[in-house]
Amino acid sequence: MTVRRMIDLSHTVSAETPVFPGDAAVEILVTDATSRASVAGERHMNCSRLNTSLHTGTHMDAPFHFIHDGASIDRVDLTHCIGPSLMIPIPPDVHEIDVPILAPWQNKLRVAHRVILNTGWHRRWGEPDYFTAHPVISGDAARFLVDQGVRLLGVDTPSVDRDPYDAHLALLGGGLLIVENLANLDQIHAELFDLVATPLRILGRDGSPVRAVAIVGG
Ligand SMILES: [Zn+2]
Repeated sequence: MTVRRMIDLSHTVSAETPVFPGDAAVEILVTDATSRASVAGERHMNCSRLNTSLHTGTHMDAPFHFIHDGASIDRVDLTHCIGPSLMIPIPPDVHEIDVPILAPWQNKLRVAHRVILNTGWHRRWGEPDYFTAHPVISGDAARFLVDQGVRLLGVDTPSVDRDPYDAHLALLGGGLLIVENLANLDQIHAELFDLVATPLRILGRDGSPVRAVAIVGG
């Protein structure tokens, strides 16, 4: 029997989770706790409230993030969030991922429809330059992915690009979903695996934290 292995591609969410410069820190307010002294006749339980940017930690950008009439996160097609995904290793000295790096993968991209780029940057999660010095994807490379029929792009960086956001505009304008801040990509030793990355169904909004999982083998 072949063993199918689950690899968690998500960072943990806590008050200590590093957030994008300018974003408020994550707040988790414990509203009730079983550790609290019980009042006679009253049962305590564990309940909490979460206050966070929708782009904290491992999360999905919906087309609406940059495109005024693009699909909001509650409207993303779940068939794009679950299924076969290709892993493309990006050499560590690459600061801008351009078409020549992706072109050799063209035929496989057309079959997989989902792709994750392992830049190795996830290893720098928590370091001071994580949000500022990460590799980016060029606008041309983004258009190349759209042209191959890719439906979901995952990266291990906090963003696919920087201002003026050519890649975000090309990808989200092409209806792709973007998953950012992926973790643990080095644990995937397969070129092709099954990906699950589903967002919360937040009405009319721009993104959502996701629990991203790679299922390998089997
Ligand atoms: Zn985002």
